[in-house]
Amino acid sequence: MVRRHAEIAGGGFAGLVAAIALAERGWSVRVHEKGAALRAFGAGIFIWENGLRVLAAIGAYDDVLRGAHRSDFYEVRDRGRVVERQRFDATTGSRMLTMTRQTLYDAILAVARRRDIEFVVNSEAVGASPDGVLETRDGRRWRADLVVGADGVGSKVRDSLGLQKERTATTLGLIRVLAPRCKAELGPGNWDEVIDFWNLPRRSLRILYVPCNETELYLALMAPSYDEEATALPLRQDIWLPDFPELEPVITRVSSDHRYDPYETGKLTRWSAGRVAIIGDAAHAMVPSLGQGAGIAMMNALSLAIAVADARSLADALAAWEAEERPRTEYAQDCSAAVARDRVAHGGRMWTEAALRPSRVIPTGTEHLPSLIDRPR
Ligand SMILES: Cc1cc2nc3c(=O)[nH]c(=O)nc-3n(C[C@H](O)[C@H](O)[C@H](O)COP(=O)(O)OP(=O)(O)OC[C@H]3O[C@@H](n4cnc5c(N)ncnc54)[C@H](O)[C@@H]3O)c2cc1C
Repeated sequence: MVRRHAEIAGGGFAGLVAAIALAERGWSVRVHEKGAALRAFGAGIFIWENGLRVLAAIGAYDDVLRGAHRSDFYEVRDRGRVVERQRFDATTGSRMLTMTRQTLYDAILAVARRRDIEFVVNSEAVGASPDGVLETRDGRRWRADLVVGADGVGSKVRDSLGLQKERTATTLGLIRVLAPRCKAELGPGNWDEVIDFWNLPRRSLRILYVPCNETELYLALMAPSYDEEATALPLRQDIWLPDFPELEPVITRVSSDHRYDPYETGKLTRWSAGRVAIIGDAAHAMVPSLGQGAGIAMMNALSLAIAVADARSLADALAAWEAEERPRTEYAQDCSAAVARDRVAHGGRMWTEAALRPSRVIPTGTEHLPSLIDRPR
């Protein structure tokens, strides 16, 4: 049988997982990354049970586990008072691991490097055509049985095919930074847990405190985009410190590598056109309130590879893949947007059964795995 070939635009979480899963199924794969190097962007990340199962399926789970932090609780505090304390372990059917983005990326990239995958950096996709051609900025045309647009929220592959239906920006957003843990200086408290700090009556600022490992901490500082002082970079300590004095040792030591990202949701008319499939943020960007974007991007990348691997009809396989994955993906998008919109009205609380549902999904291709929940650390 002739070996089938995929050209993938984008070497992020979705692109790498698709590349690994297709290569494992006998395809030849080339990944085009616009950047000069294969690396992660951003500070820290939550990966929940659904994403952890995908990592186990592709062989990256053990490396992630070694480099990540496990917190059994997600605590919400408003002015020092605990208003919600959600447990994430075997009893709730979902765990969360938190880690630096580079830890997650390195673990997936290490698996990809062991497969027969070709990487081309400084290779920016500018478009694709339904007959299976990816075009790059240097004028080259790369023919494939399947082209995958995994080129993120600003996807050129998607836009060249006119597939975007909605792109909704909100007035919320986050500054993401890394800082040293400084546990000894933080005063009394369990600083190994994820803690969501609110200060509701003053202004709608929030700091999500996320341990990533023994030495690194991820801080996500949320402020509305119209708040020029709170969204200013470098971080305005005079704005953030008075509201969150208990975090002074870490706020004063944040890394200078930071940026403000507004929340947005994106939906497409279809997830594919001819021989081109769109995955990850390019297909379904979502606001990050449930921390599900990368987990679902990886889920849909794995299930795409499974759907097309031995398909006689690519069109049928892509239609079946979208019919299976899209409803639960859009559920997560809509739920994430609703949580972000309603949290202030709910006093910062967010972990309803509805909000937990995406993390408990058993991803396609991971049904055979044992429950990871009871696995020792
Ligand atoms: C503030 C914030 C916090 C978040 N927190 C979480 C969280 O805790 N947990 C979680 O699961 N998700 C989270 N997400 C979502 C998560 O970051 C994304 O869903 C995830 O990164 C999507 O992966 P991707 O591979 O589709 O896209 P990306 O990670 O954006 O990767 C796209 C890749 O394609 C490359 N590229 C771009 N354009 C081109 C081109 N034209 N040609 C070639 N290459 C190109 C880029 O350089 C990049 O390497 C968060 C998002 C935000 C904004």
